[in-house]
Amino acid sequence: MSEVNEKVVIITGASSGLGEATAKMLASKGARLVLAARREERLKKLVEHIKEQGGEAIYRTVDVTYRDQVEALAEAARNEFGRIDVLINNAGLMPLAPLDEVKVDEWDQMIDVNIKGVMYGVGAVLPTMRKQKSGHIINLSSVAGHVVFPGSAVYCATKFAVKAISEGIRQESEGEIRATNISPGAVATELTDHISDKESKEMAEDLYEDAIDSDAIARAITFAIEQPAEVDVNEMIIRPTKQEL
Ligand code: NDP
Repeated sequence: MSEVNEKVVIITGASSGLGEATAKMLASKGARLVLAARREERLKKLVEHIKEQGGEAIYRTVDVTYRDQVEALAEAARNEFGRIDVLINNAGLMPLAPLDEVKVDEWDQMIDVNIKGVMYGVGAVLPTMRKQKSGHIINLSSVAGHVVFPGSAVYCATKFAVKAISEGIRQESEGEIRATNISPGAVATELTDHISDKESKEMAEDLYEDAIDSDAIARAITFAIEQPAEVDVNEMIIRPTKQEL
């Protein structure tokens, strides 16, 4: 039996990009999915698609910046499937801009979604995983969690934070909970659509010319989940072969 089969997996940010691709891949391997994001129509269609293919999934509309909504998501997983095996903390955004633009609303949004949203997820599943004496938390960091790019200070700060959180989970896991930090390079998704600064958008469009497909990250996440329980894949960087930084 595949190590993915019948695992209960929560995915935040499942309405597009990496989250959606990962949901489809894990569903095809028999995972039981609890999918979350804000855009309900997208989630509904995805769940219908997964069910048509013989998979198992439910969805909840969740804004990860609200702790009560993230708690309710974990509750939905427990009520529907009785346990939580994996949380994929994937929801995130990247409105790049130089600090001089002082886009404080975007700074707040990145900190709220990319860091606080991740912590709300951890807080919502950890007590259940402790009771089970098993679980796996997978966080989406970035190459921007390893190096700082011009115009990316706040985004990089949030992704460095995610990397630190992943390592903290690992160190405190007492051998019960697996922690995986996934750091993609440029992947073709909707991530660059929300860049409001013109120059940063042009810079991103250049970098994303060689962007790889979301399935590359879905495969990496699937690899981490399907390892036997005693194997903890802690860190993966997946870049386009042509990406320099
Ligand atoms: P997308 O923009 O395609 O997907 C982002 C997802 O996050 C969407 O499903 C969106 O759903 C969700 N989301 C955003 N804000 C919230 C919120 N407040 N509450 C709940 N869900 C939210 O981008 P990607 O798939 O590329 O991004 C996924 C993750 O991968 C992010 O953390 C990103 O930083 C990371 N990453 C991506 C890279 C890339 O090149 N694509 C590179 C490195 C890291 P909705 O709008 O419906 O709420």
